[in-house]
Parts: sequence; structure tokens; C-alpha cells
Amino acid sequence: MAALEIVNLTKRFSQRLAPAIDTVSLRVEAGEMVALIGASGSGKSTLLRHISGFAVADAGSIKALGRVVQQDGRLMPDIRKQRADIGFVFQQFNLVGRSTLLTNILAGHLGRTPSWRAILHRFNADEIQSAFNALEEVGLLPFCYQRASTLSGGQQQRAAIARTLVQQAKLVLADEPIASLDPESSRRVMDLLKQLNQDRGLTVVVSLHQVEFALRYCPRVVALKAGKIVFDGPSALATAALIDDVYRSEHHSHGAAGLDAPAAETPQTRTEIIPDPVH
Ligand code: ADP
Ligand code: MG
Repeated sequence: MAALEIVNLTKRFSQRLAPAIDTVSLRVEAGEMVALIGASGSGKSTLLRHISGFAVADAGSIKALGRVVQQDGRLMPDIRKQRADIGFVFQQFNLVGRSTLLTNILAGHLGRTPSWRAILHRFNADEIQSAFNALEEVGLLPFCYQRASTLSGGQQQRAAIARTLVQQAKLVLADEPIASLDPESSRRVMDLLKQLNQDRGLTVVVSLHQVEFALRYCPRVVALKAGKIVFDGPSALATAALIDDVYRSEHHSHGAAGLDAPAAETPQTRTEIIPDPVH
């Protein structure tokens, strides 16, 4: 079964501007772990927000876990039910800082990010047990009664992942979850996403600015450039030249970017991103 089916999705924020998402079609099978890469402004966050039904496209369709999220510019009316099966992990930590870690994790039972409703909600023994289990799984049990705001960035991201476990999400969308983390914390967060993918069979779509992490952790890479998919395939086939091109728009104007643009000198860092085989 496909966990995600996107067909000809197009989104323009303004008629004067190029589309942020330009006829994107993408199919992700259940159990895959896919990296979404691309320069800043290439459309990664916009695409993830459309998948989660937080934004509506101009055209095209998205199905997640077999159910339509949006079609031809309309969100499906049962979108809240849909979202309950989709877990989100964002770049900016989305925990309620003044609440304890445990309360934040319990909010996963409500299928949404924590709010005053989550905090007032009464949870039963099973729900509380599953929150403790999730905290143990991500290595945060000792911190369960600490305020979320006192946790490090890496711990907060692992907490966000624990919440998707409690939520029993089948599809996890992570938007640059390691962008604000140091390398060691980044590795732990990515290890955890990979573990959930391999051990629990969760489908993971993770946008990453850091190509090395994408290639190391994800067997499949989808590269966006100016809202278009310019590469979709095994990470072992994502060559340094391709990746250089994907990120070239960061250094050149939009118009100059493209495979036939004059070859730029390959920066030293690019030679370090030859992929390790995943698995
Ligand atoms: P990425 O996450 O890859 O950095 P984004 O999805 O944030 O890229 O942005 C893609 C493009 O859409 C950019 O040109 C950005 O300026 C534009 N964009 C994103 N959100 C909005 C918005 N709410 N209004 C107008 N333009 C937007
Ligand atoms: Mg983004």
C-alpha cells in the first residue's frame, strides 16, 4: 500500500511569483524512509504542510494512508481524523514549555499538538502507561517530570518523536528536525527515526538541509529545486554532481540554476557526501 500518493500538486502563493510547488507527483510506499532535500526555499516545508493538510494547493491531489487529504484545491472534511494518523516533528520544537515532558507526551493521545485542552484532559492508566513506554523508548524516562523548556533541543526533538509514538502515527513527517541541533544530537534524532522506521515499520518522510544525513540514513532521496522534483531515487545514485546542482540555487540566482549552467568548482565539502550504503 502507498503511505503517500501525491499527484500533480501545484501551489502558487502569488500569481506574480513562480509556484512554490510545481506539478509534484510522488508515491511513497508504506515502510519507506525518504529524505526530502533541497536548498532553502525549494519547497520542502510547503510540501510537508500540504501533506498534513495545514495548507491547500491550487491543483492536484494528496492521499495519505489511503485516504484523500486534499484534492483540486479542497481539503477533505474529515481532515482532523486524517491527521490523527500522521505524526509531525518540526524544526522549531513544538512542545508546551511550561508543561512537564509527560504532559506533552500524553497530548499525543489527543492526536494533535499540546494545548490547554491537552493539559486539562484526564488520561486513563493505559494512556499514561503508553506515554511512559514511549519516553523509555526514546531514552527520556528520567526527565518525565521536568518542564519541557528545561530540555535540550535534541531531547525536545526526541520528545516530539515520542509523542508521535503515543499517537500511534503510521506516517511521520519531520520538517528539518535536526536543523537546530549539534552533530551528536542530530545523530541521536536520526537514529531514532530510523529505528522507528525499521522496528515499527513507520513510514518516515524527513526534510533535511544536511545532505550527509539524508544519504546516510535514508535509502531514498527526493530532491526539490524551485518547487520541482529534480531527483527521486536510491540515495546511492544521488551523485555529488546532482547534489551540487540541487544546492546551486543557494549561490546563484534562480535563473542561473540548472544542469546546463556553467560547471562550478566542486567545493571540498561535496566530496564527503558520497553515500554510505544504508542497511
Ligand atoms: P523550504 O522549506 O525548502 O526552505 P519553503 O517551503 O519554506 O521552502 O518555501 C518555498 C517557497 O514558497 C519560497 O519561495 C517561500 O518564500 C515561499 N513561501 C512559503 N510559504 C509562503 C507563504 N506563506 N506566503 C508566501 N510565500 C511563501
Ligand atoms: Mg523549510
